Amino acid sequence: MDSIIKTDVCIIGAGPSGAATSMQLAKSKITHCIIDKAVFPRDKTCGDGLILYAYKAMKLLDESLFTDFLKSPKFLHSKTINLHINNNLKVSFKETEDREMVISYAKRIDFDNFLVERISNTYAQKFFGNRAVSLQEQENGILIKLKDGTKILAKMIVGADGAQSIVSKKLAKNKIENTLKSTFISAYFSGVENMVANYEAEVRIIYKKVPLFFYVFPLADGQVNVSLGGRTDQITKLNINLIDEIEHILKTHPFAKNMFKNAKMESKWRGWLIPFQFDKQKIIGNRFLLVGDAAGLANAFYKEGVGTGMMSGILAANTIEKCIIANDFSQKKLTEYKKNIQKEFKKLLRFSHYALRFARFKSLFSNMVTVFKKTIERKSFKLIKNRSY
Ligand SMILES: Cc1cc2nc3c(=O)[nH]c(=O)nc-3n(C[C@H](O)[C@H](O)[C@H](O)COP(=O)(O)OP(=O)(O)OC[C@H]3O[C@@H](n4cnc5c(N)ncnc54)[C@H](O)[C@@H]3O)c2cc1C
Repeated sequence: MDSIIKTDVCIIGAGPSGAATSMQLAKSKITHCIIDKAVFPRDKTCGDGLILYAYKAMKLLDESLFTDFLKSPKFLHSKTINLHINNNLKVSFKETEDREMVISYAKRIDFDNFLVERISNTYAQKFFGNRAVSLQEQENGILIKLKDGTKILAKMIVGADGAQSIVSKKLAKNKIENTLKSTFISAYFSGVENMVANYEAEVRIIYKKVPLFFYVFPLADGQVNVSLGGRTDQITKLNINLIDEIEHILKTHPFAKNMFKNAKMESKWRGWLIPFQFDKQKIIGNRFLLVGDAAGLANAFYKEGVGTGMMSGILAANTIEKCIIANDFSQKKLTEYKKNIQKEFKKLLRFSHYALRFARFKSLFSNMVTVFKKTIERKSFKLIKNRSY
């Protein structure tokens, strides 16, 4: 008979959400398994911008994690994010002199590895380079089968397996509508000239019947991450080819054309999804919960998904500790996690859903932002401080 590894908790996915869950469990001395189909360092299609919750989560996990992050030469920091709407309106989110930054740039190949290296060797049994291929509900737990034939029986599963989560599909039976996700493409460039000073983040809403979000982020190695995307249903309906669009933008847009004139593409265009079905689908059930992209926790408007994912991992681990003490892994017991997620994210993520919907109405949206520009810039300080470091 095949031997089966038995554990209280098994995390599927060691991206930022899974790694944060694991680190928080280790703080409570909870032994667990963590699986990832990839071997780290591994890349992940992303804009590579870290804001708000990424800082908050790192500080909550371990002050030294945050200070190591600040010290690392692989990561770059800036005190300003510029949001340009429709080429003629600019809203700036700036940090004060006494605070370090409002945005950091970290290639995911480096940042995710930075987190994975801090996963405990004492409390976490790691299965990397090994995909979870099936999940079977059994009386005494959930049986996870890995690609190489390994079997793990867990009392509780954390679905930290991203936008196409097997845990969300198989256990929560979720199916995510195209209205609740964005499609983005991104690529790295070198030789970009005349970048905005002080590593300021450039975020542009460019209208192509529907709003497309265009990001240009500088990186510590001198390369630049460029990405473009929008709501999946709108892109599909209008048959928008994101690669054609972004190449056109880089050649013709007044902001980009001189910058990218002599630039060299260092990677292919890569596309992926950003799910934001927060509050619309199941994130808990008997013996499982979902974190990060698997739970649809990315911000629909400005696409923060790394930080919200890490924060959800911390909240998940805190509830799991109570489940272990009570030896109760029922949906009812896991309701606390759902409540804490709502408490932490509800206002912000709901607002981001409405903002994205409203952004579709180009003139109305720009007029509204013009009227409230000063208030938004002033009030954003408080929002940033409360939700970051
Ligand atoms: C183009 C683009 C730009 C973005 N820009 C930003 C940005 O600038 N800032 C930001 O905060 N967010 C951004 N996001 C969103 C961000 O990338 C995600 O929200 C974030 O990666 C979520 O982290 P996660 O740990 O939940 O999932 P992931 O990072 O996707 O990690 C999931 C992990 O699970 C593993 N996995 C999946 N299936 C299995 C399986 N069956 N078995 C074992 N392992 C499995 C994967 O290998 C992976 O390591 C962007 C997304 C895209 C697509």
